[in-house]
Amino acid sequence: MSIMTRTLAQADPEVAEIIHNELERQQDTLMLIPSENYASRATMAVTGSVMTNKYTEGYPGKRYYNGCMYYDEIENLARDRAKALFRADHANVQPHTGSTANMAAYFAMLEPGDTILAMKLEHGGHLTHGHAVNFSGKLYDAHFYGLSEETDQLDYDQVRERAHEVKPKLIVCGASAYPRVIDFRQFREIADEVGALLLADIAHIAGLVAAGAHPDPVPTCHVVTSTTHKTLRGPRSAFILSTDEWAREIDRAVFPGLQGGALMHVVAAKAVAFKEAQSLFFREYQRQIMRNAQALAGVLQEEGLKLVSGGTDNHLMLVDLRNLEITGRQAADLLEEAGIVVNKNAIPGDPLPPNETSGIRPGTPGLTTRGMQEPEMDQIGKMMARVIRQGREDDTVLAEVRSQVRELCEAFPIYEYLP
Ligand SMILES: *Cc1c(COP(=O)(O)O)cnc(C)c1O
Repeated sequence: MSIMTRTLAQADPEVAEIIHNELERQQDTLMLIPSENYASRATMAVTGSVMTNKYTEGYPGKRYYNGCMYYDEIENLARDRAKALFRADHANVQPHTGSTANMAAYFAMLEPGDTILAMKLEHGGHLTHGHAVNFSGKLYDAHFYGLSEETDQLDYDQVRERAHEVKPKLIVCGASAYPRVIDFRQFREIADEVGALLLADIAHIAGLVAAGAHPDPVPTCHVVTSTTHKTLRGPRSAFILSTDEWAREIDRAVFPGLQGGALMHVVAAKAVAFKEAQSLFFREYQRQIMRNAQALAGVLQEEGLKLVSGGTDNHLMLVDLRNLEITGRQAADLLEEAGIVVNKNAIPGDPLPPNETSGIRPGTPGLTTRGMQEPEMDQIGKMMARVIRQGREDDTVLAEVRSQVRELCEAFPIYEYLP
């Protein structure tokens, strides 16, 4: 049999087995990482399609290679659907990932050495928002705003003060670990006061925004970047929205500025995801994510766990573990033993280093994709609290919770059609 016709199991049993084990891990564990989700069958089919085989450098109608007719169709479809979904003038669907989308936005809007103002990583920002170890902190003069010490929420007076101090060319709003609503209009007011451009990075909340469940950054910001694989539930990738005014600069920054050929199988899968996101089911899904987050936050608090800012308005929450004498890393590792997968996360003012942390960041997009609702959140919150409180001293707790988790996972299967 030729290489071209062998199945994966025939061609590479080693890799096939690893993938099979990963499928079982996904089926058998409760996934509460708020930046992850489960892509649909259609989305995954497209990422494994023949669309992977072509070089399409350039944009529809202006390609460097011949034979791009269907790639033009698919990219136009993806762009039109993104524009319709977010009511944007312009969409670029070629960025490979959220980080490259941000890089392209900076390339379009800034010169190296320019000043940016963004949210501190330790308060919920992202590495690409100017952190010293990241290109964004090396290439640009990065300054930061943080959360209010009293409320652990965005403090627009502080943002304004910092903006007047550092006079940034660009203000970045958006976060990776912020459980509250972001008021883009307040950011725009501040940007206008100091003559700055405004970029919203909605990597986490894109699904909520698309469903109209969170404020819409598009009319308020010059450029909006996002991933497609978090709440939006598409393939692992990203896109950029902008006003017409920024369209040309954004496109040139992505190609030829930053990337070569786009991953057209992923662009095609983004087209599918944008269509899925236009449906009423998707709107209802996003609202259920938020109801589930409310429910989970409520149980965790009843169980004596402290939440940063006292709750959540979106799909995630930050648990401050300092009163329980357990670190974020320890809690996340214990929970994993019990079949509950979360990530450790710094909390504002965290005294511990980033590989230890004093918090975890549970979220509900994945559980909600599986069809779980408030009653399951109640159960899961209680299991989490039990593991965090007693898991270290008592192995039977871990074993008991592990078997409850298995039962719950069996009742809410994913990818049943996969072998
Ligand atoms: C996840 C995330 C990104 C980066 O996305 P990658 O696809 O991992 O590069 C950028 N910004 C924010 C706010 C994010 O949460």
